Amino acid sequence: MNKIFLETYGCQMNEYDSELVRSILRKAEYEFVTDEKAADIVMLNTCAARENAHRKVYGRVQGIRHARGKLPVTIGILGCMATNLRQEIFEDRTLKIDFIAGPDSYKRLPQLIAEARDEGTKAFDLTLSEFETYSDITPSRKDGINAWIAVMRGCNNFCTFCVVPYTRGRERSRSISNVLDEVRVLAKEGFKQVTLLGQNVNSYNHDEGDFTDLIAEVAKVEGIERIRFTSPHPKDFPDKLLDLMAVNPKVCKQIHIPLQAGNNRVLDMMNRTYTKEEFLSLVEKMRAKIPGLCLSTDVIVGFPTETDAEFEDTIDVMTKVEFDMAFMFKYSERQGTVAAKKYPDDVPEEAKTKRIMRLVELQKAMTYKKNKEHIGQVLTVMIEPAINSRADDERVGRTDGNKLVILPHSSYKIGDIAQIRITEATPHCLRGEAA
Ligand code: SF4
Repeated sequence: MNKIFLETYGCQMNEYDSELVRSILRKAEYEFVTDEKAADIVMLNTCAARENAHRKVYGRVQGIRHARGKLPVTIGILGCMATNLRQEIFEDRTLKIDFIAGPDSYKRLPQLIAEARDEGTKAFDLTLSEFETYSDITPSRKDGINAWIAVMRGCNNFCTFCVVPYTRGRERSRSISNVLDEVRVLAKEGFKQVTLLGQNVNSYNHDEGDFTDLIAEVAKVEGIERIRFTSPHPKDFPDKLLDLMAVNPKVCKQIHIPLQAGNNRVLDMMNRTYTKEEFLSLVEKMRAKIPGLCLSTDVIVGFPTETDAEFEDTIDVMTKVEFDMAFMFKYSERQGTVAAKKYPDDVPEEAKTKRIMRLVELQKAMTYKKNKEHIGQVLTVMIEPAINSRADDERVGRTDGNKLVILPHSSYKIGDIAQIRITEATPHCLRGEAA
């Protein structure tokens, strides 16, 4: 009676946390199964960042209960939604949730599960810790070439639209030596790339050094060929970090730099702490220091009170920067945020739709244009496992700038690093052949 089915929603940090949860519970002699019908315990690792996330999870819980009929199953909710909606989750009698664990309480899962199952109590732990970094837990990872490593957790920025500071608490960082121990083991296991993770990853700070020092040390680990990081904040890009990125061949020439909005009044309401002009000059500096840099971004349209004229500033920044890729969202309220409390969601749905459609069209054209610029170039590509079932005669890989490249079948193995001449570009990917 110790079989667990774990389902993960949301961001990469949640995927990483699920790896931690697997490790913690395997040590406590639980077994993980891929068939939910074979499980005694079902856990949903939830996200509070997307619109209607809670409705999806509630629907999923009801579906599980319905499918089980009279057969017993213990259901637990983990992650950001657990912290954010604790009251609601426990009070909803139709849901019948047995236990809840917030992002800083995963070490207590064995006890919470035992309490819920043996004593029949509603067990929960939603403590937000100032210290928990899970630095003593090695995540249960799947084999592969890329490993995600959370180097810091939490966020101090309080962007007014975001729940993270409330659901994951304040920033705290692992030590450089502790991260390096993990990276060395990963290199021995055959991982070639590490992606350093954090809610505001470049504000990483520890007595042993800052984010630049951390990357410089990780780059010294033999066997690790590529280093990426996500998600940074524009305020934390000192020159020394950009200079390191420019000269260290292991640090990928790719930055995800969330813009969120282009208008200064809206940026101020969002508490993003930079202006349109500062953002543009940072991008200019990044490109001057790091030739060939690929940039991606996040944008929210229709933040409360944003006018059509103010939205033009977002269009202006997107046009000037020409991001390689962008994730674009229509604003919607997140329970518990400053924006939900202070700013009515007053931009009509129709206006939000119009704005996002314009932005998506613009970005599509930009992405295609940026992809076409690579035709004829020879790029370094790391061969990766195929995402979907690709034809037997094709391989996939990624450029240093994180662009997907499709290659004709060859003797390349997963993890190989090859020089590839780009022969074709589509709005979504590149095609190439051995240079
Ligand atoms: S930087 Fe802003 S958007 Fe990112 S996690 Fe922190 S509060 Fe949320």
